[in-house]
Amino acid sequence: MTLEARSNIIVHMKTKGERRCGRMRMGAARRIAAALLSVVFIAELTGCVDPREARRELFAMDTYMELRAYGEGSDGALSLAEDVIKQLDGLLSATDERSELSKINRSHGEPVSVSAETLDALSEALAISGKVGGALELSLRPVTLAWGFTTGEYRVPTEEELAELLPLVDDGKVVLDEAALTVTLPEGMMLDLGSVAKGYACDRAAETLSEAGVSGMLLNMGSSTILARGSKPDGSKWRIAVRDPEGGYAGYIDTDGACVSTSGGAERFFTGDDGEIYWHIIDPATGRPAKNGALAVTVVTESALWGDALSTALFVMGSDKAKEFYNKDKSFEYLFIMEDGSLILSTGMEGMFTPLGRFAESGAASQ
Ligand code: AMP
Ligand code: MG
Repeated sequence: MTLEARSNIIVHMKTKGERRCGRMRMGAARRIAAALLSVVFIAELTGCVDPREARRELFAMDTYMELRAYGEGSDGALSLAEDVIKQLDGLLSATDERSELSKINRSHGEPVSVSAETLDALSEALAISGKVGGALELSLRPVTLAWGFTTGEYRVPTEEELAELLPLVDDGKVVLDEAALTVTLPEGMMLDLGSVAKGYACDRAAETLSEAGVSGMLLNMGSSTILARGSKPDGSKWRIAVRDPEGGYAGYIDTDGACVSTSGGAERFFTGDDGEIYWHIIDPATGRPAKNGALAVTVVTESALWGDALSTALFVMGSDKAKEFYNKDKSFEYLFIMEDGSLILSTGMEGMFTPLGRFAESGAASQ
């Protein structure tokens, strides 16, 4: 299918050293509320089970994960990878009172001693939040708590409440002492690694599997972050499906090895008394759900941490700012599924993404 044939797809294209936005005709606008009724997001298109494949299913980080590894010793290697993920879950959970992160969140401005693993996770995640310029704030927890997103006791905070909480959101004030292995937060600040922990754990699990010598791996960290690396026994490419928040699949991504990560509003949301839909990805600038016309964002990256962080951050930025960011940092490709039924793709995504369902159909209709 040619680019022009896809009637509701927008590609951020590069021409003569510049990028421009090539807009195709829009498909029919869809009701956002209907979109949010469907379960999301992204799933691997499953095939037959290969006898050279070892699998593990586990519940960690509040989601069901599925790990697959190929080659000699892969079953034992998966046990090690599973331990790594469970250990990180125990350290980095914002809701488990025994976790090191919870101790940090209860520290009232005092330094807290943590493990090297927690310090490394915070250090890597904070470096990324600094890089994406305010779209990602790990210190957003006072605000997400006010909305009830972590407790399930949903409510719409008042503007006054948000105005009081927003000064507590500032990742630049988190102090890590790598020599002393301590973390210090100003009084009142709290961290939530919900936007990055699965990606971080995925990278650590992948490292463990590589060190154990597996020849290939497919790590599904709860559908929203999937890492494929190495080779499959049959030598074919990895194929990872992108769910359409309105139901079914928006398409699939073929890759020799990458992380595919998706963020979107439909993952967690509630309907307010005012009939408005409020979802869990918050714009740190306002303290309110990030709404800029996108239903979901999928990114393709090499590292899972970068993918997990970036899909959340681009959802907050919206497609225009995402394009600006992409023009400066080419370490990823992206795909926005918009409320109006259009897709917006980065240049490199065009070559790896095949549309399905309403996106393929609307393309065919324009031919
Ligand atoms: P994800 O599903 O990876 O996009 O992460 C979403 C989760 O990260 C939410 O459920 C919140 O716990 C948290 N979160 C929401 N908005 C932000 C933000 N702007 N920066 C960092 N974390 C966020
Ligand atoms: Mg994320």
